[in-house]
This record gives sequence, structure tokens and C-alpha cells, in this order.
Amino acid sequence: MNPLKIKIIFILSLLILAVVSTMTAYGLMHEKKENDRRLSEAYEHVHLTYNETIKDTIHFYQARAEANFRSPGVLKAFYEGNHTALYELMKPRWEVMQHENPSLVVMQFHQANGKSLLRLHQPEMYGDKIATERPMVAYAHANTQNVSGFEEGRQGLAFRVLIPVFDQGIYIGLIEFGIATPYFTDKIRRFTGYDAFFFVNKSILGHFGEFRKSVTIGQNFGVDIPLSDESFLQHYAQLHVKLQNDVITYDHQAYEVNVLPIKEYRSRPIGAIMFVRTTDDFSVHMRHTIVASGLIALLLIFIMGLIVDRIYSFVTAKMSFQERYAQMILDSVPAPVIVTDGKSLIAASDAFLQYFHFETLEAFKHEHQCVCEYFEEGDTDEYLMPMRNDQRWTEFMLEHPHKTHKAKITIDGVCTIFEVRISVLNLNDTLRYVVIFNDISCMQQQSMSDPLTGAANRLYFSMVYSHAINVARRTGKPLTLIFIDIDHFKKVNDMYGHLVGDVVLKRIAQIVTNRIRNSDIFSRWGGEEFVLLLPDTSLDEAIGVANSLKEAIYFEEFDKAGSITCSFGVAILDESETGEDLLKRADEKLYEAKETGRNRIVF
Ligand code: GH3
Ligand code: MG
Ligand code: MG
Repeated sequence: MNPLKIKIIFILSLLILAVVSTMTAYGLMHEKKENDRRLSEAYEHVHLTYNETIKDTIHFYQARAEANFRSPGVLKAFYEGNHTALYELMKPRWEVMQHENPSLVVMQFHQANGKSLLRLHQPEMYGDKIATERPMVAYAHANTQNVSGFEEGRQGLAFRVLIPVFDQGIYIGLIEFGIATPYFTDKIRRFTGYDAFFFVNKSILGHFGEFRKSVTIGQNFGVDIPLSDESFLQHYAQLHVKLQNDVITYDHQAYEVNVLPIKEYRSRPIGAIMFVRTTDDFSVHMRHTIVASGLIALLLIFIMGLIVDRIYSFVTAKMSFQERYAQMILDSVPAPVIVTDGKSLIAASDAFLQYFHFETLEAFKHEHQCVCEYFEEGDTDEYLMPMRNDQRWTEFMLEHPHKTHKAKITIDGVCTIFEVRISVLNLNDTLRYVVIFNDISCMQQQSMSDPLTGAANRLYFSMVYSHAINVARRTGKPLTLIFIDIDHFKKVNDMYGHLVGDVVLKRIAQIVTNRIRNSDIFSRWGGEEFVLLLPDTSLDEAIGVANSLKEAIYFEEFDKAGSITCSFGVAILDESETGEDLLKRADEKLYEAKETGRNRIVF
């Protein structure tokens, strides 16, 4: 897969993960807060219900006690310690009260001397010194005030309300009501929806109670635990050695467990009530949420991956199409074309690669830094050089937009003259130069040479001439000029006709061309007159050249025309003179050669 595509998908995946995990974390945090708030609210509610139930129970049985003693005979029988009379009076009331609250398990009259006068729940047993065995009873006798709290007795653990009884200001004993724990657990269940279980600490258990020790949590025994709840509490007991708040999972269900300490009559803790309610297990919920978020993130990443893949393919197809399209346009141009940023090659047309004999642009760039490495010096200053006036060739072209620019390039010994054009593309502040090399070798040849002799024409000569003078001045090298004129050429024409004259002209041009250097410029000046420009050639050398030409022509046997001679006028460029002056001087020398007998060289 494309590294860019992988990078894009990777970054977007990270983004998706970051967004999803932030949202999940935020959601969970919010839910956790909400959960905690609900838990503490529920706990408050339980607490309040418990306290209210206790308070109501105390008030209720205080009122019951008062009502009983207002009945005629009850107070008297109690005062007199008359067990039978008191029982007879209280029995129907006791039945009513039991009916009213089935959890009322104890109603007892305690005499001021600490003895039990009447147990309505166990009427046959009385007269024992119960106060010695029941600290709470002893305490109530001693203080002659209302005392309430959980205490163990013969009937087991019960919430006991002890109310002192006075007759005309004289303390005659206590009346005790004992309410079994299910009374409270039922109330709590009804008002709060919590299951509640009583636990009492082993160490403060007295010696009356025969508990069915079904569940033990650490030091605590469960009291009146329904059979159906035992296994749940056993499970809790396995997790905890102390009664404490927690959320536990039992049988695939989360339970919220709250613990409220319970106190005896002197506010010493004797155990606790455990409140249990089913709840959403937050850790399970959290796990589910995280898994769900993870799956959503994966799904999003998958979808995003698909979308990126599609978009990427679409864009690359479009881009590669654009690139191919641009290359096709380049290739459709029959001339070599390059695209450059002014420093390096960026693209090149097929024609370019074909011309330079390279398979690919990379292969070209591997060997050449610039196409300008091929540029050769030309006869005129129209020819581009890699650097000119401290400017790169492209810069030079841009600086001189109205000038004709040419490039002379030789490949495999074949020299080609190109007219070079540059255009600038500005794409989003990126400059690109499109350079076209237009082969003008033919045109150049045609427009610059004489059709008959093949020598350069006068136009070409005049263009080259000023450049040559400039170069000679700049380099300080000598520049010589030779005028060549065929002697009595008119006669040739007259005697053998123009066609023979033409053949002579051609032959003489050939002889000259074969004997001069590449850098020499041989041009037909007009009629049967030629001019030869010799850069970097001293006067002596020029005379030598003229001599060899004179000899060669002289010894040449011209078809039909026989022997032909030429006259030569030679001059060297003087420091002070112009091109015109030099031409004039050479022409004068030629004239002189004619005057002094022809077939000679004058300098
Ligand atoms: P001189 O020795 O003084 O130079 O005598 P000349 O006859 O060579 O000189 P002149 O200037 O009198 O004659 C030149 C002749 O060259 C006249 C013209 O007909 C002939 N000529 C010029 N151009 C051509 C050409 O292209 N072909 C032919 N066949 N003849 C040409
Ligand atoms: Mg002549
Ligand atoms: Mg002439």
C-alpha cells in the first residue's frame, strides 16, 4: 500500500480513537458520578427510613404503654404485684397488640425490685430476677427513664422499648416491649426496596439466645435470615471478613450492599443491618461501554479506511491522468521540449529524449545536470551559452525576450541549429519554464547560404561579421579578411555559356571550402566575388591561406573552361578600425591585385 495513504489512514485512525475514547471516558465519568450520587441518595434514604422506624416504634409503644395503664385495674395489679390479675387484664390487649404487629415478641412487666412480674409472651414464667441478667433492664430500673435499643433476651435479639411506670410519683417498675428484627427489615423493604438483614456481633451476644447461626460474616451472626437469602450472604462472607459497603456480583447480577451500624441502649455498636439491592454493576457496564466504543471506533476506522482508499484512488487516478495528460501534450510536440524550474529538468518530451538518445529523463539526468552542457558556441551572439553575463541561459532568455535565441548542438557528429523559445508558467507561485528547441538547421542553411555555391550568403556574412569583430576585440586575437575575385570571368561566360560559368563558380567554392578551417567563414559576396573571414588568424597565416587557394585554383583543370585564376586582397583588422573599414581596405587590395596583373595576392 502507498505510504502516504497509510499515513493518512493512521492519522485519521488516531483521531477517531482519540475522539471516541474522550467521549467514552467523559460519558463514563458522568455516569459514574451519577451512579455515586444515586447510591449515596439511596443510602440516605435507607438510613432515614431506619431511624424513622425506630423513632416511630418507640413513640408507638410509649403510647401503647400509657393507654394500657389508663385502663382500670392494670396499674393497681402491677403495683400490688398480682400476676394473675395483671395477666387476666392484659391478655386480651396483648392479643390485640400481637395482631396489630406480629413482630411484637415481648411484653413484660418488670417490678422495681428487678423481678419479672408478667411475661405476656410466656405467662407461666415469672418471679425470676431478670434484671440481673438483662443489663438494659437493670439500667432502666436504675435510671427510671425511657430506654430503648437492641438487646438479646430469652426471645432472641429484639428492639426493646422500656418505659418506667410511676404511681403518684412513686416508681413501681417497667413495662417492656420487644419487637423482633423482621419488623424493621420489612419496613425498610417496603419503603426503600432494599432487602435488610440483621447481624449481631458474637462478642456482645448474651447467653439467652439460641441463634440459628446460619450465616457468619467475620465476627457477626446473621439474625432471622430467610433461607432463600442465605447463599447470597454466604457468597458475601467469602468476599469479606467485615461488614462493609460494596457492590458485589452474585449469580450474574450486581448487588449494592450498604451497612448501617446498630446500637444497644447505651449507643454501643452491637452489630449492623445490611441493606441489599440489585444494581447495575458499574464495572460490567463500563466494560460493556468500552467494548461497544471500541467496536464503534473499529467500525469508524474501517469505514474511514474505505473512504480514504476510494478518495485516494480517485485523486491519484485524476492526478496521474493529469500528469500523463501533460506528458502526452509534451510528447505531441514534434520538437524537443523541456520543462525546468531554472535549475533542474522536470520533464522532457519524447522528441527531446530521442534526439539526445536517452530512454528516460532519469537516464538523461543521471549523466547531465543541464541540457546546456551540449550548447556550442555559434557564429553569432544569438547562440545560447550555459552562462552569459553571469546569468544562466534560461535567465538570459527571460531577460532578453525580443532577441532570437539559438542553440547549436552536435550529436553523433551532426550539428543542429535550434531556435530556442522559453515561456513561463506560474502555478501557485511555483515557476516553471517550458523551453522548446525548434530545429532550424534547414531554414538556417537555406536562408544563410548561397544556393549555387553552397557558400554562406551575404546576409549570413554580415551577421557573423559583426560578431567576429566583437570576439576579436574582446579576445585580442587577430582577424583577417580575404576578398577573392575570379579573373576575367565574364570571358568564361561569354565563351562557354553561363552554365559552364556556374560550374566554375561551384568548383572554386568547393576548392576554397575544402582548404579552410571550420571556424573560417566563406561567403559569396556577389557575382564571382567571395569573401573569406579568418578568425584568430594572423596576416601571415592569411597570406599563406590565400597562397594555397591561389595555387589550388591555378592548378585545377576546369571542365570545359580549362584554367582559371583568382585575385586576392588580404587585410587584417586594425585596432582602431571598424568592420566597414576592414572590408574597404581588403577590397582595395583586391582592386590592386587586379590592377597589377591578376592571379596574385595583395595585402
Ligand atoms: P575581372 O578580371 O576584372 O574581374 O574581369 P571579370 O570579367 O571577371 O569581371 P566583370 O565584373 O566584368 O564580370 C563579371 C561577370 O561575372 C559578369 C557576370 O555575367 C558574371 N557573373 C556574375 N554572376 C554570375 C553567375 O552567377 N553565373 C555566371 N555564369 N556568371 C556570373
Ligand atoms: Mg572578376
Ligand atoms: Mg568581379
